[in-house]
Amino acid sequence: MHELSIAQNLAELAIEAAKHTGMKRVHALHLKLGVLSGVVKEALEFSFDVVIEGTLLEGAKLIIEDIPVKVFCPACQEAHVLSEPFPMRCPVCGTKTSQVLEGREMELFSLKGV
Ligand SMILES: [Zn+2]
Repeated sequence: MHELSIAQNLAELAIEAAKHTGMKRVHALHLKLGVLSGVVKEALEFSFDVVIEGTLLEGAKLIIEDIPVKVFCPACQEAHVLSEPFPMRCPVCGTKTSQVLEGREMELFSLKGV
């Protein structure tokens, strides 16, 4: 399962970060997840709970913030956030665009703990 290896990488990254900052216990991890990242949120949450067992992350909550798709419209010469990832058109003028600026990323952005 794709999400399991992602969860493992994420847990390793978080454990490293926690050790680095001297955290003994992590309560929550905040993750930014682009809607085009291809990661199934529920599967990631489930896998995460499994992989953190017995680590210093045990019991930590995974808090996922969805990052919407932001495209650059060549006609408007502007970036626009799409309310739905598809179709990939400028929401202002309707021009098709494939220039995705945001929405594909997965980024661990904070840890809460003691
Ligand atoms: Zn446009």
